[in-house]
Amino acid sequence: LELSLQHASKLEAVGRLTGGIAHDFNNMLSIVIGNLDLMKGSLQGNEKALRRVESAIEGAHRCAELTSRLLAFSRRSPLQPRELDFTSFIPGLIKLLERTLGERITISANVEPNLPEVCVDHAQLEAALINLAVNARDAMPDGGTLSICIQRRDAPAAGCVEDSSSVEIAVADSGTGMSPAILARVFEPFFTTKEAGKGTGLGLSMVYGFVQQSGGTISVDSSPDQGTRFIITLPALVSRTSTSQDIDPGMTAGTP
Ligand code: ADP
Repeated sequence: LELSLQHASKLEAVGRLTGGIAHDFNNMLSIVIGNLDLMKGSLQGNEKALRRVESAIEGAHRCAELTSRLLAFSRRSPLQPRELDFTSFIPGLIKLLERTLGERITISANVEPNLPEVCVDHAQLEAALINLAVNARDAMPDGGTLSICIQRRDAPAAGCVEDSSSVEIAVADSGTGMSPAILARVFEPFFTTKEAGKGTGLGLSMVYGFVQQSGGTISVDSSPDQGTRFIITLPALVSRTSTSQDIDPGMTAGTP
């Protein structure tokens, strides 16, 4: 599923708008939270009023969480792309995923050795993959498997002398999957099927924006009860000459 140009510019417009609003909103929220905290101090002994103030504080914190997502979404801070070597990136990512997803999700990682480097913002790539993984977990309420498969893709560019290599990161789950109607809207800002307070509908549009800014592409494949697979493709930094060893599919790492 490739997004249309129109969709991409809508994404950009929403990003700019929300960024401006979120920034001012955040400043006002800190005044609200600060005053509520002070109020709490003077209400000791009055349990009923304390509970009310506490639930107001909780609501304000949820707003703050939403605005910080909006700010990240509008990405006022530019990306900091650096060379990324998957061999050193993956172990930390898996550990983080294990901690984030909990015991009911089995993580299966299949990483091709000798992958070419890519040039990408490390923290943002990690955030994007965590985003996909958390959605996968939400789609597997009874547990299941999250599989991450990273491999090199060599696509000879038509009419060009040089081949273009890329690295493909596939994140797949064995969850509920999506209907075609939902699938068509997943990258839309603010589109969510989650109940209020649980989803913002910004996760995948952030992932989409990040991948696009990194010169890559993202696609998704899903059908009801068949699970979902997201594929991020990032251009390789330097084109390496492929050897027969590189294409041997039998080499895996970290498979349970
Ligand atoms: P949020 O997670 O806040 O709802 P996202 O932009 O991350 O926002 O996702 C948008 C919607 O896409 C989700 O509400 C869900 O309906 C659907 N979705 C995303 N990932 C998956 C998945 N792995 N399996 C099933 N549905 C998904």
